[in-house]
Amino acid sequence: MVFSDFQLATPILKAVTLCGYTEPTPIQEQTIPPIMLGRDVMGLAQTGTGKTAAFVLPILNRLMQGSRGHVRALVIAPTRELAEQIHEAIGNLGRDSRIRSITVYGGVNANTQIAKLKQGAEIVVACPGRLLDHIGQGTVDLSRLEVLVLDEADQMFDMGFLPDIRRIMKHLPRQRQTLLFSATMPDEIRSLARSVLNDPVTVQVGKTAPAVTVSHALYPVDPHLKTALLLELLRRTDTESVLVFTRTKHRAKRLGEQLVKAGYRAASLQGNLSQSRRQAALDGFRDGTFQILVATDIAARGIDVTQISHVINYDIPNTTDAYIHRIGRTGRVARTGDAYTLVSGDDTDMVRGIERILGGPVDRRTVPDFDYNAPAPRKNNEFAREPRQHTQGRKTARPKHSAAQKNTPAQLSTGKPKTIWRSGDHQRGQRLRSGIRP
Ligand code: AMP
Repeated sequence: MVFSDFQLATPILKAVTLCGYTEPTPIQEQTIPPIMLGRDVMGLAQTGTGKTAAFVLPILNRLMQGSRGHVRALVIAPTRELAEQIHEAIGNLGRDSRIRSITVYGGVNANTQIAKLKQGAEIVVACPGRLLDHIGQGTVDLSRLEVLVLDEADQMFDMGFLPDIRRIMKHLPRQRQTLLFSATMPDEIRSLARSVLNDPVTVQVGKTAPAVTVSHALYPVDPHLKTALLLELLRRTDTESVLVFTRTKHRAKRLGEQLVKAGYRAASLQGNLSQSRRQAALDGFRDGTFQILVATDIAARGIDVTQISHVINYDIPNTTDAYIHRIGRTGRVARTGDAYTLVSGDDTDMVRGIERILGGPVDRRTVPDFDYNAPAPRKNNEFAREPRQHTQGRKTARPKHSAAQKNTPAQLSTGKPKTIWRSGDHQRGQRLRSGIRP
């Protein structure tokens, strides 16, 4: 199948070519035709499958016809970063359409958004909270909305946005086309789908299994040696951009700082940052200024950086869905990627869950010559214990230097040239070059 089979308007087809898309991805192949027919669609697809273009292309095509200067399509997304990415995709794919899109989310000046809304845009890409504010203040007019997209609905549910979504719904015309995308289908999303979609076409790509282009590996290690092992893996592995996940904002920040101290071009992305700093971290990661981004699940949701070669779970995720989302950042579209997960004793149940969704055991690897028996230091052991789930109201004691920092130099300086091996039949035996040495 080729894009011209979709009967898209010429300016849109041209933009598709300029974006370098040669053939539609499976989600695009299956969703674009029913969307173009005006049907409601329930799309079960994770990020990295091309789902943004799957809804952006038919929406642009629709909006090329008809009146301009008022909001005709609304895309609701869970995070600001995802909203920006969708807005960017609209800009790229709609470059010759003269269709305007604006983003609406919290953490930035509302007046600027109001001014832009007044100037008139055909597409609004919004996060739920700020959109509700605008609806409440009468600064956005959705009365002539034709298409609604709920993107990453399961994440919106995880983030507690479903009540907001239901409130927003009350302000939208009943007569509209609705598209709902979700990587997973918990009961709450099933029930949301039932209430917002009208006779939908359901499209599913890859079930909730992770992209087949990703190979997975587990690295068992004691918690206090995680940073040292991560540094060692980075030193020995040939990588492009690397996304590292931690379980808490605090750990993301600290680990980001430690990587910078170790000489890497690294940044952290977590909810405590101001919007401008989050955007700077993300832009820097996208343009290669930062080679490593350390993030929490929520901050990293939907990040689309095509050259991510490795996702490293410094902390194993809490759910198998979160694992799928995390590793959905690599192996995007036809590229290949690696997902490394550092695991310690407490992680056995989650490892079992991950192996279940992957359909078999995951390679356990050790890094040759790494000192797995290095003792935990008696102090400065912030990362030696598992992260607290909840630290609200109490300040965690902050040691001046972390355990890993203390351990790392000794372990890294004694190394002679080392080899590690990738898993996966097609890659087995392929020696990895030392990669992103600082
Ligand atoms: P998404 O799943 O929407 O986040 O898209 C993941 C990445 O795939 C983005 O960088 C898109 O630009 C890219 N992409 C989308 N559609 C195609 C396509 N048909 N061919 C190649 N790349 C694509």
